[in-house]
Amino acid sequence: MTATQYPNTKLLIANQWVDAADGKTLDVLNPATGEVIGKVAHASKVDLDRALKAAQDGFTVWRNTSAHERAATMRRAAALLRERAGDIARLLTREQGKPLAEATAETLAGAGLIEWFADEGLRVYGRIVPSRNVSALQLVIKEPVGPVAAFTPWNFPINQVVRKLGPALAAGCSILCKAPEETPASPAALLQTFVDAGVPAGVVGLVYGNPAEISSYLIAHPTIQMVTFTGSIPVGKQLASLAGAHMKRVTMELGGHAPVIIADDADLDVAVKVSAMSKFRNAGQVCISPTRFLVHKSLEKPFTQAFVKYAESLNLGDGLSEGTTLGPLANPRRITAMEEVVADARKRGAEIVTGGARVGQAGNFFAPTVVTNLSLEADLFNKEPFGPIAGIRTFDHLDEAITEANRLSFGLSAYAFTRSFKNVRLLADQIQAGMLWINQPATPSAELPFGGIKDSGYGSEGGPEALETYLNTKAVSAVGV
Ligand code: NAD
Repeated sequence: MTATQYPNTKLLIANQWVDAADGKTLDVLNPATGEVIGKVAHASKVDLDRALKAAQDGFTVWRNTSAHERAATMRRAAALLRERAGDIARLLTREQGKPLAEATAETLAGAGLIEWFADEGLRVYGRIVPSRNVSALQLVIKEPVGPVAAFTPWNFPINQVVRKLGPALAAGCSILCKAPEETPASPAALLQTFVDAGVPAGVVGLVYGNPAEISSYLIAHPTIQMVTFTGSIPVGKQLASLAGAHMKRVTMELGGHAPVIIADDADLDVAVKVSAMSKFRNAGQVCISPTRFLVHKSLEKPFTQAFVKYAESLNLGDGLSEGTTLGPLANPRRITAMEEVVADARKRGAEIVTGGARVGQAGNFFAPTVVTNLSLEADLFNKEPFGPIAGIRTFDHLDEAITEANRLSFGLSAYAFTRSFKNVRLLADQIQAGMLWINQPATPSAELPFGGIKDSGYGSEGGPEALETYLNTKAVSAVGV
């Protein structure tokens, strides 16, 4: 593949790349130009039935493959992903928009996650339970739950697949993934590494099409034993209730609206640098992106000035161009959403200190934006912005900031900056979130649990908890006769 080629993406069924049975496709656009760069196959029920049959067959083989052999295959796939990271990252940037350095980091981090889950699969232990009847043997056995249906979004096309595929395969499940139609080529390149690594047919599958049609068909289908989704809260609630109706196990990794508390004793330089870099990573289209900035009144001016200076230093452009530090938004829906958030803030008397508007007419570019004097009723302080916008409010006492941090029904991630251990203890105890990062950016490494509480979902996509989700627990008690 040369740097300029962008491939059409097919469906992956039983280790074969195939067109949709009816030949239907969707266009793929480059968010930096708005131009059509390729096509992706659009599955119908005929294709889904074939993919489900393959997932069932793949599961039968994979669950009977030793954990060591599974780990070795996964490690080979991870090695191929590293080897191909340069090419795959370019695909990712072309279809999603993020700067090439971020796309490369995402791809390499994906390889690291696969390796960690591969090894964690070697440590799926059962246990022996002392019996009340001395002649009985009591065992607790862990077994893979079965074929998994995974639904992944466009903001991290590689990472979001890996977070599901890694623990599923390590546990011995097969996985049928509906990856995002907007960014199909990089997930396909990821799955190609598994095919090339020698994964048995049907252990991994990939389909694209109409998300609602595919999810309602797969979730209800008797082959599928577990459902995992990353995306918006409204869609997550729909899918969780559908899964509930069919008694399917579920992991939901949904939206967030992360508070960032800058206490009066914060190291201001660290707070600005860390939170501004985190805010504008992937143009703010990150579920754990810092969004609601709560700054102690004594630090309001210096924090805002330094934060705005950082925002204005960003180099907005095509993610493939040298020097770009902020790419376009992934789709035109995000531009509309940003314009609405800004209009609402303005209407309520907020000050748009920098940015606030679309840049250029071609591509989905939106200026990095900082908003102050926000009322608590502003959309920016209530709805997940999912874009390059930071809203700043102030507080007098830490308790107020904690109350505000916990006010919304989101509970994914939170950030805080303070030098005081007493504050750290208080925040660790009081903040309602699945992940809390203090004096540092988010470091969602493989070994740490990754997931939310409240409306942000349930289940974990990191740490040993991630594997547990893909396992059934069976109690066996046996006496000799
Ligand atoms: P959306 O709600 O339409 O879609 C979100 C994701 O879910 C997309 O990948 C989409 O393909 C998928 N989806 C939508 N309906 C589905 C269905 N019925 N069955 C299965 N999958 C379905 O919104 P959008 O405009 O694509 O994204 C914007 C919002 O989505 C953001 O505001 C953000 O809250 C959320 N989002 C969250 C994450 C995350 O990492 N948690 C990632 C992407 C998007």
